[in-house]
Amino acid sequence: MGNPRGFLDYERKEGNALAPKERLKHYKEFYFLPSKQEQEIQGGRCMDCGVAFCHTGIIAKAQQSMDSMDMGVIACAEDNAKPISGGDVGCPLRNLIPEWNDLIYHGLWSEAYDRLSLTNPFPDFTGKVCPAPCEDSCVCAINGESVTIKNNELAIIENAFSAGLVKPYIPKKRSGKKVAIIGSGPAGLACAWELNAKGHSVIVYERSDRAGGLLMYGIPDMKLDKSFVTRRLEIMRQSGIEFKTNHNINSQKIAKDILKEFDAVVLATGASKPIDLCIEGRESKGVMFAMDFLTLNTKSLLDSQKGGDLAKNRDVLIIGSGDTSVDCVAVALRQGAKSITRFERSPKKAETRLDSNPWPLKKDTFSTDYGLKEAIEHFGKDIREYQTLTKRFVAKNGQVCGVEAVQLEWSLEDKRVSREKPDSLKHYKADLVLLAMGFSGAEDGLSKTFGVELDSKTNIKTNNYLTSHKKIYACGDAKMGQSLVVWAIKDGCECAKIVDKNLTEKLSCCVK
Ligand SMILES: Cc1cc2nc3c(=O)[nH]c(=O)nc-3n(C[C@H](O)[C@H](O)[C@H](O)COP(=O)(O)OP(=O)(O)OC[C@H]3O[C@@H](n4cnc5c(N)ncnc54)[C@H](O)[C@@H]3O)c2cc1C
Ligand code: SF4
Repeated sequence: MGNPRGFLDYERKEGNALAPKERLKHYKEFYFLPSKQEQEIQGGRCMDCGVAFCHTGIIAKAQQSMDSMDMGVIACAEDNAKPISGGDVGCPLRNLIPEWNDLIYHGLWSEAYDRLSLTNPFPDFTGKVCPAPCEDSCVCAINGESVTIKNNELAIIENAFSAGLVKPYIPKKRSGKKVAIIGSGPAGLACAWELNAKGHSVIVYERSDRAGGLLMYGIPDMKLDKSFVTRRLEIMRQSGIEFKTNHNINSQKIAKDILKEFDAVVLATGASKPIDLCIEGRESKGVMFAMDFLTLNTKSLLDSQKGGDLAKNRDVLIIGSGDTSVDCVAVALRQGAKSITRFERSPKKAETRLDSNPWPLKKDTFSTDYGLKEAIEHFGKDIREYQTLTKRFVAKNGQVCGVEAVQLEWSLEDKRVSREKPDSLKHYKADLVLLAMGFSGAEDGLSKTFGVELDSKTNIKTNNYLTSHKKIYACGDAKMGQSLVVWAIKDGCECAKIVDKNLTEKLSCCVK
């Protein structure tokens, strides 16, 4: 710790964001880091705590469900060592946060990059899109403002790129083993990067026309400009990893051929099976899945530098309250929507932490993410409708023109929405409805194609990353269910360790 008074002497300083009015004119990123010198000072706010929680990477879950998972329990001092439950604590990648905070404070940027690279192969992605559970677990956040960990991470990697420090990694020796990775999202990429570094020959198969998974077609350009995804993919290619795009591994015949050709196969196919809303009028034109809306827009931007126009002059209704819905709001605004409404089933969250969500858990409080801020500024009001349940889509000549919805009552006893409020049925005008209610596991057909078992949530069932097939592994959302980029990267890296161990053991058997 360079300056023991850092957290007292320096205030938290964020980067600069373009005002919503300005940024709605384009799809470019709108958030810019402070200067390098200012970022160094931010590094000095880290106290290098005796017990730092920012880098613990714990999933705090109910005790009974913890047995089979890679996690720890933390004791809540005020509650007689009862385990804290219901959220993550610290960085899932266990990034060495206090160490690189100190290094940047001392201007040792290259050393900071070396430390960061030990745990995170893609800080260029997490530095932009991670919700930063590390900052919620920062000791400074107990009664003040956390260290700008995410910005520091981004500054380290962007500085490393500018200084030419980020180079391809070509292993000195090849193992002679071949691994096929199906799916090129963050989990597949992390797994590919680690296995290639261990000397195995890796081919990544991707059904889309571009690699990157949800980093490419999912998270919009405003949060992650696609040039940053291609920049990373290029380094991976130069390191010897082969990408085969437009390759849908969707038949038993193709799967069989792959299993014959490769020593191991990793399924990193994501969890993009969207949850549907099968109510009256669902078949109407203008009711679509949020992911289709987002993908079309990104594809249009990539192919023709122009965004889509599905939401132009439309009354847009978005059903669901997660990241996907926020991205839909932001894209619909840029396409020129006439109005936007967002429904969520849950009540508005509390402004401050509840007793059930104490520090150092990831915060579960009311927040207004970027797209919602933009909508509030643009329309002059909040577009969120809480405790709202959609009952039917109303259509005219097959085209949706509205929805009917009711209000839900909040049960204090059960702490959940329960009954429909009597006489609360209301009509909402909408000629584009986007379904953003989450995802429900690995895609249908995958288990049949590869002959692997699924678990009760239709994710791919694994035991230490190995599926029910002795040559097939799984990682990322396909195994965990819809998650976060940082978790997908961690899972991809962990999976690579197991694949490498098993392949290397086989190799040493053969040598003997
Ligand atoms: C709209 C949206 C916004 C999000 N925003 C954020 C965010 O801001 N921050 C964050 O941390 N997380 C965010 N997430 C979650 C995050 O993107 C995912 O958790 C993460 O991408 C999962 O990584 P993955 O590699 O497991 O799967 P994916 O990224 O889903 O990649 C899977 C890939 O496999 C390919 N594939 C599937 N089946 C086959 C097949 N049979 N043959 C060949 N290829 C196949 C798919 O085309 C896809 O490219 C967001 C998710 C969505 C949907
Ligand atoms: S990856 Fe996410 S949780 Fe980890 S240090 Fe970076 S911002 Fe924090």
